[in-house]
Amino acid sequence: MESMFRWLGFLIILLLSLAGFFYWSAGQTTPPTITIEQPAGPVGQQGTLQFTAGVGRTIFSGIDATLEQNGKTFPLFTLKNPGSAVVTRADADHLQIAVPIGKAVLPELQQGTASVTITASRTSFLRIRDVHTTVSKTFAITLEPPRVAVLSSKHYLNHGGSEFVIYRATPPDVRSGVRVGTVEYQGYPASGAGIPGADPSLKVAFFALLHDQPLDSRVVAFARDAAGNEVTASFVDDVFEKPFRKSRIPIDDRFLSRVVPEILAHSPQAKVRRSIDNPNDLLGDFLIVNGDLRRMNAEQIAALSLKSPAALLWKGPFAQLGNSQVEAAFADARTYVYNGKDVDQQTHLGFDLAVTANVPVVAANSGTIVNADWLGIYGNCVIIDHGMGIASLYGHLSSIDVKVGDSVAKGQVLGRSGMTGLAGGDHLHFTMLVGGHPVNPVEWWDAHWIQDRVERKLQEAGAPTPVAAATR
Ligand SMILES: [Zn+2]
Repeated sequence: MESMFRWLGFLIILLLSLAGFFYWSAGQTTPPTITIEQPAGPVGQQGTLQFTAGVGRTIFSGIDATLEQNGKTFPLFTLKNPGSAVVTRADADHLQIAVPIGKAVLPELQQGTASVTITASRTSFLRIRDVHTTVSKTFAITLEPPRVAVLSSKHYLNHGGSEFVIYRATPPDVRSGVRVGTVEYQGYPASGAGIPGADPSLKVAFFALLHDQPLDSRVVAFARDAAGNEVTASFVDDVFEKPFRKSRIPIDDRFLSRVVPEILAHSPQAKVRRSIDNPNDLLGDFLIVNGDLRRMNAEQIAALSLKSPAALLWKGPFAQLGNSQVEAAFADARTYVYNGKDVDQQTHLGFDLAVTANVPVVAANSGTIVNADWLGIYGNCVIIDHGMGIASLYGHLSSIDVKVGDSVAKGQVLGRSGMTGLAGGDHLHFTMLVGGHPVNPVEWWDAHWIQDRVERKLQEAGAPTPVAAATR
């Protein structure tokens, strides 16, 4: 009898040890993984909690997410009842979950900080034990909208033309500028435009009503914080229609065989689009150059403006090439005619200025060289960054005398005119750019326009009178 109890005792100890071992090994099961992708910054009226939860070749026993603020807990998500969450299977082992957060769905949220906590669990070996992972993230709740107020007066836009505005945006580090239709122009601190002692919330922005935008495009100054809170202010007094010309450009094989192979040789990005079946299709190649390459070049030029410095590097009106004959106007709608047939249509977004062959081409105003090389259809091309998103482009040059990074003064020689790129003869192709977009240069050549639209506003905001006008 006694030995039986001993045996029983031994058996109980053995079973307990085994259970202990299983419980321990169940604890060794790999826990789920959780990666929080959003919010990546502050949350405002709108926001998203997005995370990816991973589990090996098994299933989740639960995923729960909550938001805590000031001692209150708000349930956001539970796997058993996903509600408005979007649950996507990222791959065999991972679920991606997106849940709306922000004041719009959680009206009790207040300005300050909040945190999210996510717990994911899986059952272990023999389902003895739940193995879970908990991850938290703290972020800012920003509910007070930024402010924007326009300070300058008399804003008029010509179709295809530019304008300038001075405004105040708070808090000073908020993203702000001008939006025309869907195109945004960055605002810059007014201290960079020569207003001494300007506080950091005072900003300036150049913007444009592009030739291909409708005349009734909405124009607003905007300020938008990292949480997506945005305010806008309308300020444009009037918009004027400007007729754009239409012209027909005859092209022949002589012209095509002179320009197209050379442009393609310089432009590997366009070469790959050529037809393999028809390697000697000169007109086909021209259409690639005039269409695809023209578009790629426009994107390349626009990208340069993103690095524009926050300072006005220029003063006074821009200079037109001396004694030049204007051969083509801004936003000229060109139809290309080959063997009597219309083969293509493009808008010419610059001015063609001709003097005589090989004349020195000078900087229209002071700035920094950002391109001094072949640039697709523009052949040998110089681009000057004048600061605050303003740039000028000089195309079809036969030679270039400057290099990227050079500071140039107004009137300084950049190179000589020529007919490189898509040019029928020796001329200068001149483009003015605002925020990377081509605009009508006529305004920028006009001393009266520069004074009324730019200098007057700066002086009214506290900038000193330009040196040229103050001295005699
Ligand atoms: Zn041109």
